[in-house]
Amino acid sequence: MIKVEQKLFQNRYRVDAGRPHISIKQPELCTNSCPEQQCATCCPAGCYVAEGNGKIVLITDGCLECGTCRIICDTHRNVEWDWPRGGFGILFKFG
Ligand code: SF4
Ligand code: SF4
Repeated sequence: MIKVEQKLFQNRYRVDAGRPHISIKQPELCTNSCPEQQCATCCPAGCYVAEGNGKIVLITDGCLECGTCRIICDTHRNVEWDWPRGGFGILFKFG
């Protein structure tokens, strides 16, 4: 039986250096008004990291383009979400 982690490891990711396709609009909102910080627990790729001091660090390398963070930040709508430019981002390998 192949685990999900092993399947994900088969994917490849091309980083668009300096041009992340997702960003947090107002980081201070995360710190001051979002105690749940659900993005940090819901992102399957671990792109959002709660630093423990109220700050959220977002690194989009490895993003699976699932759209969860855009939906889960429903109260504050604090996520600016776009697809990566052509040729960048995740390359899914099936099989
Ligand atoms: S869910 Fe939205 S507002 Fe809350 S910490 Fe994450 S990005 Fe910030
Ligand atoms: S789109 Fe999915 S994988 Fe990418 S940062 Fe958002 S939750 Fe994580």
